[in-house]
Amino acid sequence: MGASKTVASRRHALLTGAAPEVRWEAQQAAQGASTFSVVLPLYNEEENIETLYRRLTAVMEGLGEPYEIIFVDDGSVDSSAEQVRVLHEGDTRVKLVRLARNFGHQAAISAGLDVACGQAVIIIDADLQDPPEVLPEFVATWREGYEVVYAIRQKRKEDALKRAAYYTFYRLLKRLAAIDIPLDSGDFCVMDRRVVDVLTAMPERNRFVRGIRAWVGFRQIGIPCERDCRQAGTPKYNLRKLMRLATDGLVSFSYIPLRLASLFGFVISAVAFALALWTIYEKLIHPDYIAGLTTIVVAVSLLGGIQLITLGIIGEYIGRIFDEVKQRPLYTVREVLGFDEQ
Ligand code: UDP
Ligand code: MG
Repeated sequence: MGASKTVASRRHALLTGAAPEVRWEAQQAAQGASTFSVVLPLYNEEENIETLYRRLTAVMEGLGEPYEIIFVDDGSVDSSAEQVRVLHEGDTRVKLVRLARNFGHQAAISAGLDVACGQAVIIIDADLQDPPEVLPEFVATWREGYEVVYAIRQKRKEDALKRAAYYTFYRLLKRLAAIDIPLDSGDFCVMDRRVVDVLTAMPERNRFVRGIRAWVGFRQIGIPCERDCRQAGTPKYNLRKLMRLATDGLVSFSYIPLRLASLFGFVISAVAFALALWTIYEKLIHPDYIAGLTTIVVAVSLLGGIQLITLGIIGEYIGRIFDEVKQRPLYTVREVLGFDEQ
């Protein structure tokens, strides 16, 4: 199969939202053009693209092997896509996948992984919080035979509240998750082709990339890495998106919240049993004993509360089951640029 045909079919597969197997085959055929693929999710990052491109190119040139830089524009409403287009005109290694709307960071990463054809795929944030300068060390570790080399955030230069939230989330996840998801690991990583192939073939819709990346196994290693401040612009994750990501992480990797329901059940039953014994005793001792209204109100509202919480937890799981059975694609693509010049 000729290179152009391969790329055309890959592009076609992407644009038509083809089944994962088709995309996978097309991707397999397109491999070998680049050693490295850098995947960058972008959402209104116009102030950062210039510096990002400059710093990243300097590092990638230093590695001395063919590479591609894939910008995934996640429905930006600023000039991000136009800037990438300009970069592409001067450097055909720069490519663009433009999603049809804002699908979120994790979906944007998945889109990038779907089109990347390098032997190693690098995922990095576009706001320069993850310094590209550490990549040579990551790549050297990948060459030693590790299939996943991820960053462990040493110091977060973010405000105290956010740091506390992240800290608690990762520890809670560690406690609850059925698999070992490394503490404080982010999406910043280098992954071998074998791992990327497994990830892109996975049909899961609620994607918590650092979780499924840990789930696939292979040899993984974390490298401590300081997390900088955002170079420019405001964080694109608002509280709602962060909470969504956190619940995705917890619910996709743990059944323990569901088991809480049974735990509540047992505890309440035990208390109720004790109360019943006590009431009978009182009744026997004082024949004119009438159980208090307070007891009834407390019991009813406590039970009502617990039942609603439990329903909510079950709802989190059912909502995700619903997402999975609908089988909608993870994202839709409006435009791709640069995938036919190789
Ligand atoms: N991002 C995205 N889609 C979104 C939100 C964020 O593609 O809906 C990108 C964003 O442009 C950045 C990366 O994901 O490159 C991380 O986002 P951000 O810096 O806001 O997250 P934080 O560092 O605060 O976790
Ligand atoms: Mg950031």
